[in-house]
Amino acid sequence: MKTGKINVQTENIFPIIKKFLYSDHEIFLRELVSNAVDASQKLKFFAKNGEFKGELGELKVDVILDSSENTLTIRDFGIGMTEEEVDKYINQIAFSGAEEFVEKYKGKEGAEQIIGHFGLGFYSSFMVADKVQIRSLSHKDGSKAIQWESNGSPEFTLEEIEKDTVGTDIVLHISEESKEF
Ligand code: ADP
Repeated sequence: MKTGKINVQTENIFPIIKKFLYSDHEIFLRELVSNAVDASQKLKFFAKNGEFKGELGELKVDVILDSSENTLTIRDFGIGMTEEEVDKYINQIAFSGAEEFVEKYKGKEGAEQIIGHFGLGFYSSFMVADKVQIRSLSHKDGSKAIQWESNGSPEFTLEEIEKDTVGTDIVLHISEESKEF
């Protein structure tokens, strides 16, 4: 297993974001479903232009509630992400987007409307979850399935997992105070 620290100056950024966006917690679902749909449409496109030669399954997005485990999983059968892509899009871009957001909008109202502009979509999941896992298998030939996990602090772990179907599961471990979700 690999462990790492996301490259941001502001530590514990997520409690701050959480507080900012308190009024609009349910946006996390819209953001995650929207990412899942994007990933599915991209795979459809890659299948059309010949970049993806595998089997294009049913391009649906499942939202799975496991109330005994307190998890909510957003599952897609889209392009998936390699370890390198998770590193780039999640660890580097999204975390720095989060930092920029906090610096610009500290204490301002209406921050929830601009969350998408900062590539913060994925990170809105930390508004309701105290642990998030990304379990993904890329559509690219020879990819290994990976799991990224973080509790919203800049620390994350990244490891190889078993996953047979191409696509991504975002597993939200719903926090005590967000049980309504
Ligand atoms: P945005 O969607 O605004 O770019 P996000 O923080 O929501 O910002 O996501 C960052 C990036 O992570 C996306 O642009 C995409 O490349 C990747 N990503 C997120 N969710 C998925 C997913 N379900 N499948 C594949 N890639 C994803």
